[in-house]
Amino acid sequence: MGKPPINGVEFGTPVPQPGDRWIPVVQPRAKAPITVRVLSSKVLSTMVHWVPNALKPGSGHSAPHTKPDDTCPLCIEMGQVPRWHGYLGAWHHSTSRVVIVDLSVHAIHACSALDPARGHDLRGLELRLYRAGAGNNSKMMAELSKLTYKDDELPDAPDVAKCLARLWGLNNHGMLRFGDAGAAL
Ligand SMILES: [Zn+2]
Repeated sequence: MGKPPINGVEFGTPVPQPGDRWIPVVQPRAKAPITVRVLSSKVLSTMVHWVPNALKPGSGHSAPHTKPDDTCPLCIEMGQVPRWHGYLGAWHHSTSRVVIVDLSVHAIHACSALDPARGHDLRGLELRLYRAGAGNNSKMMAELSKLTYKDDELPDAPDVAKCLARLWGLNNHGMLRFGDAGAAL
C-alpha cells in the first residue's frame, strides 16, 4: 500500500522479489582479480558462444549454444565452436553484492575441486580468480580456500540458471541446456 504521491513521487514501492534482481556476471581481468565467497553448492555448466560487437572491437557478449549442433544459429552463422562455461553464485567482497562468476575450462583445470563431476559442496568456500598472463584473454586461474565463516552468515545462492536465462533473453521454455557435466573436454 503506497502513500499519497508527493510532487508526483510515489513512496512505498514494494521490495523487489529476489527473482527480480539483476545479478551481474563477472570474470577476472588481468589487473583485476576477483575474490568471492561461493554461495552455490556446485558449478552449473553449459556451452556458450562469444558474439563480438562489430561496432566496438574488443567487446561483445556471451550467448548460449541453444540447439543441437547442426541447427544452432551461432554455430552456423559464425562457424564457431561453442565453449564450455561454468557459473557459480557468489558473494563479491569488494562490491558487497551477489554476483555470478563465469568460469572458463582453464579455471576448472587449475582447480579441479570446482569440477561439478567431483561432487564437492562449494558453498562457503573462498574462491580467488585471476589471469595467468598480462592479457584479459589469458588463461583464467582459480584457487579455493577453506571457509572461515559460518554458513548462516551467507546470503542464499541466486538461481543461476534463471539469471542466465534472463540475461540471454530466454523464457521458461528456452532451449538452453544446463548441466553439471565435468570440464574435462
Ligand atoms: Zn552453437
